[in-house]
Amino acid sequence: MAARILEGREFAARFRADAKERAAALREKTGVTPGLAVIIVGADPASKVYVRNKNKACAELGIYSEVIEMPGNTTKEALLAQIDALNASKKIHGILVQLPLPAAIAKDGHEIVNRISPAKDVDGFHPVNVGRLVTGEEALVPCTPHGCLRMLELAGIEMDGKRAVIIGRSNIVGKPMLHLLLARHATVTICHSHTKDLAAVTREADILVAAIGRPHFVTADMVKKGATVIDVGINRIAPKKLVGDVDFAHVKEVAGAITPVPGGVGLLTVAMLMENVVQAAERQLIK
Ligand code: NDP
Repeated sequence: MAARILEGREFAARFRADAKERAAALREKTGVTPGLAVIIVGADPASKVYVRNKNKACAELGIYSEVIEMPGNTTKEALLAQIDALNASKKIHGILVQLPLPAAIAKDGHEIVNRISPAKDVDGFHPVNVGRLVTGEEALVPCTPHGCLRMLELAGIEMDGKRAVIIGRSNIVGKPMLHLLLARHATVTICHSHTKDLAAVTREADILVAAIGRPHFVTADMVKKGATVIDVGINRIAPKKLVGDVDFAHVKEVAGAITPVPGGVGLLTVAMLMENVVQAAERQLIK
């Protein structure tokens, strides 16, 4: 039997509706509108599209937003000064620096992210938020893995006691996903490019998360019958063709549930960003 398709837009619509309601409630209670500032350095075309989408989502959900465009030759010092100003701004409750940074300052990425106040770190990349996630305290959690977790919950996919396998150990997706699934009492294995006999590991997974960045990497023989397969990958294989890390056409015949690409996890990320902005504003204003 073909798998249940987990459509990102259905889940994203729920998350956005929740964020909109919470933003309105906060405005009513405090008179303050939650605000997001996005800093973009340079003119990377993909980044410009992402930033536009974030801005549009803010407008739809009643969240104030500012886009700060800085030239490609911006120095680290100038960027840090901009972050300091936003850290101090009463109108802004969430700050993110759009990645990738231009090559000249990319090496300073940690210092730049670490300058954002943890309370306003809506990407969830600051070590304070990473530490809180690991120790189980309330944290701002990176949007993509958080969206995956919330989708699993809403879809009624059991995590407690299940075997979960994540392929990919990035700070943005793989590692936070590990902690989110662990906190839901899954038994979690994380795989990477040094993992031996990867298919033997992935075949044990009740929940398989692919965050690799390689088109169609996960094939049907790597998947246990009935497993839930979450495809985080976004790979452009032709100017207008995006595919995931999972061989969707074949894996959907084996899996119990699966996310498509496009139309899956990608749509959850911006929705979760909106939730993080509202959460950050709630904490700054009423907690
Ligand atoms: P990274 O490149 O940071 O990490 C990729 C991971 O895959 C690494 O841990 C790497 O292992 C592992 N890997 C690579 N090749 C293999 C292999 N042959 N076998 C096993 N593991 C392998 O990627 P990200 O986590 O940033 O992104 C992953 C994918 O998700 C990309 O396609 C990206 O575009 C997409 N993405 C989508 C988002 C969304 O909104 N939907 C948001 C963020 C990312 P090692 O560590 O050993 O090198």
